[in-house]
Amino acid sequence: MDMDERRIREIVSQVIGRLREEEGGSGLPRPAAAPIAGGREGVFDDLEAAIGAARQAQKELVALGTDKRSEIIAAMRRAALDSARVMAEKACAETKMGNVEDKVLKNEYTATLTPGPEVLRTETITGDDGCTLIERAPFGVILAITPSTNPTATVTNNGIAMIAAGNAVFFSPHPGARECTLEQMQILNRALVAAGGPPNVMTGVAESSLRTVVQAMKHPGIDLVSATGGAAVVRAALESGKPAVCAGPGNPPALVDESADLARAARSILRGATYDNNLPCIDEKVAIVVEQVADRLVEEMTRNGGYLARPDEATRLTEVCFTENAPTRDLIGQDATAILERAGVAAPASTKCVILDRCPPEHPLVQHEQMMPVLPVVRVPSFDAGMELAVQVEHGFRHTAAIHSDSLDRITRFARAINTTIFVANAPAFAWVGVEAEGWLSQTIAGPTGQGVTDPRTWTRQRMIALAGALRVV
Ligand code: NAD
Repeated sequence: MDMDERRIREIVSQVIGRLREEEGGSGLPRPAAAPIAGGREGVFDDLEAAIGAARQAQKELVALGTDKRSEIIAAMRRAALDSARVMAEKACAETKMGNVEDKVLKNEYTATLTPGPEVLRTETITGDDGCTLIERAPFGVILAITPSTNPTATVTNNGIAMIAAGNAVFFSPHPGARECTLEQMQILNRALVAAGGPPNVMTGVAESSLRTVVQAMKHPGIDLVSATGGAAVVRAALESGKPAVCAGPGNPPALVDESADLARAARSILRGATYDNNLPCIDEKVAIVVEQVADRLVEEMTRNGGYLARPDEATRLTEVCFTENAPTRDLIGQDATAILERAGVAAPASTKCVILDRCPPEHPLVQHEQMMPVLPVVRVPSFDAGMELAVQVEHGFRHTAAIHSDSLDRITRFARAINTTIFVANAPAFAWVGVEAEGWLSQTIAGPTGQGVTDPRTWTRQRMIALAGALRVV
């Protein structure tokens, strides 16, 4: 574990401690989680029953009031923390992607750093004609379509944020992550009921397919669609006829110029590109570096767990990692050592990331979101050339980009040019979650539909309540 990881774990454990103190958590026994009637803790055999139960639960949830809702959210956080390791293990075992330690961290981050009801504020306007309240109201039942790459963390993140806003949630898991997704939902449901909430605030169906997702999208009992995944699900959600919050694919470039602190840049890029074996959509997928400092950057990368492939090895690795015009399915989210072994490349067992230096811009792993710890490096003659290439490889996804530079002017120019939802300077591309830079955590980054880094406010609709001629007291 390097210093940065240690620091992150310290911060997470401080937040966990604070959370427990705030709840009066003193090691006293927790309320026993009672089994939930009607469906197996939110899991139903039938779509109609699942959505119907969620509709009923949403009404009951709202009727409990906002103080109770805050208690419920605190209980959900605690349950997600308590199960962070076991659910990380289950997610890795079921999806056969990612690595357990990073998924534990992801589950812990999500439990602690997802914003809750505190971000929902009523606004007031007063004037000569009276007083008006702008309230944030729930949508009702949200269909949350979740990915295979962050299955349990997305349930916790969507669950906390959507319920904090007063919604119920019907979860539609990826078929390859169904068990762990539904189990995570059941864990949260148990905690919610034990804290005094109604059963079935989160529901799902035991057997689901793409047909089920489409049926759910069109179901009159669904008020809003949240789609977290690749381009196909974003398209389907946009065509559903329902209001949709769409979080689509990315291909985050990290641009490094000659003024950058190269040791920090290399460390940051490798930490991002190896985080959960590069599964998260926000991880660095390609490094673009000004030629003048490229040798030094690559050398620094090799000091941080990177293995620099020789040209013949790089050719073999590319052939193995990119097949049938797409990243090789069963290498997505694998350890670097497993990928090296598949390509027949001998490298130290401590290798965390494979570096493919001097890739041309058209290299498939530069252009495609590879989601594996194999990092292509493209050398460019100048900062401006690098900026142009970075904009091209991001493909207008409006997702994430990073820069390592000492020049505020260049940072600003690049931020303007690439126009992404998340833009990070001089840190790993995941820093915005609120650990190493300012921000808050979300597992649903809605670039295509513009809601951005989602939080409870995203899952509300605005209501204006106007009282004419009164309550203007000054
Ligand atoms: P995926 O697109 O294969 O699946 C995501 C979800 O969409 C699953 O529940 C799946 O069942 C459903 N789905 C897929 N195709 C569908 C269709 N045609 N109609 C209806 N539903 C459909 O994605 P994945 O492999 O699980 O996750 C990785 C992808 O998700 C990457 O592209 C990654 O960038 C993206 N992602 C984006 C965000 C974000 O916040 N923007 C977060 C996580 C993952």
